Amino acid sequence: MKLMISSKALYSTWMYYSPDRMLIDCGEGVSTYLGNKSFAVKRVFLTHGHADHIAGLWGLVNTRNNAMGDKEKELEIYYPKGGKSVEEFINFILKVNSNLKYNLKIKALDVEDEVILHRTGAAQRVIRPFSTHHTVSEKSFGYNIYEKRKRLKDEYRGLEQKEILKLVKKIGRDAITIEYEHKILTISGDSIPIAVEDAYETDLLIHEATFLDENDRRGNNHSSIKEVLELAKLAKVKAVILYHISTRYERSIRHLVNKAIKAVKIEIPVAYVHPSKVFTLN
Ligand SMILES: [Zn+2]
Ligand SMILES: [Zn+2]
Repeated sequence: MKLMISSKALYSTWMYYSPDRMLIDCGEGVSTYLGNKSFAVKRVFLTHGHADHIAGLWGLVNTRNNAMGDKEKELEIYYPKGGKSVEEFINFILKVNSNLKYNLKIKALDVEDEVILHRTGAAQRVIRPFSTHHTVSEKSFGYNIYEKRKRLKDEYRGLEQKEILKLVKKIGRDAITIEYEHKILTISGDSIPIAVEDAYETDLLIHEATFLDENDRRGNNHSSIKEVLELAKLAKVKAVILYHISTRYERSIRHLVNKAIKAVKIEIPVAYVHPSKVFTLN
């Protein structure tokens, strides 16, 4: 399992990304569902402080406190700087769990901040938040996961391996390579459609689509499926997963998703998280 998503608009949203042992959001029921996997979670990145995205935090922090043996189960929680509800809730959790047996690291993030998720040799995987538009009362973020890779500079491409090795000896590997970033995963959090540049050329866009019917769209806090698919097209993303779908569509999701795919004429793979099922991707 690489990705596990549970999302029911208004009720609870969380997703677990196993390569980096991280949760994005922590809605109610997350530790109950994950069971033993709760102990594997290393980091939690919160998109905003609404109850349906943070209510499971207390359970997660508390469950992990009762683990047997493993003393290195440090947990890191990241949230949008200035997110009042998250701060209040975390303070409460710390107050009622004053004797935590493991290290709990809490960090507020700014949009330009970067957290290193994984590093092997020259390759690195990092996460960076971006601003979204949800509600005025609560600061909200989406997250991008990037892979930092290195490749030969254009002028050295096409050289034989022998020549390259010679150059490495002579002027060093760094002189002949450049670092570039590849966006592998983009998560919207709750928001109106995110900016095209934030989703641009991502391998996988996981975007909220609270409204599967354009006519139900109210206010300016959430997205409709049509808007998301149009964004996916403009941003040249390679695949989409729709989540945070309202339960009102429970019986007609497949029909409404197919209808929108046809209307927008999008040809990339589009999947959705059914509000009452846990979605998994391997
Ligand atoms: Zn929500
Ligand atoms: Zn929300």
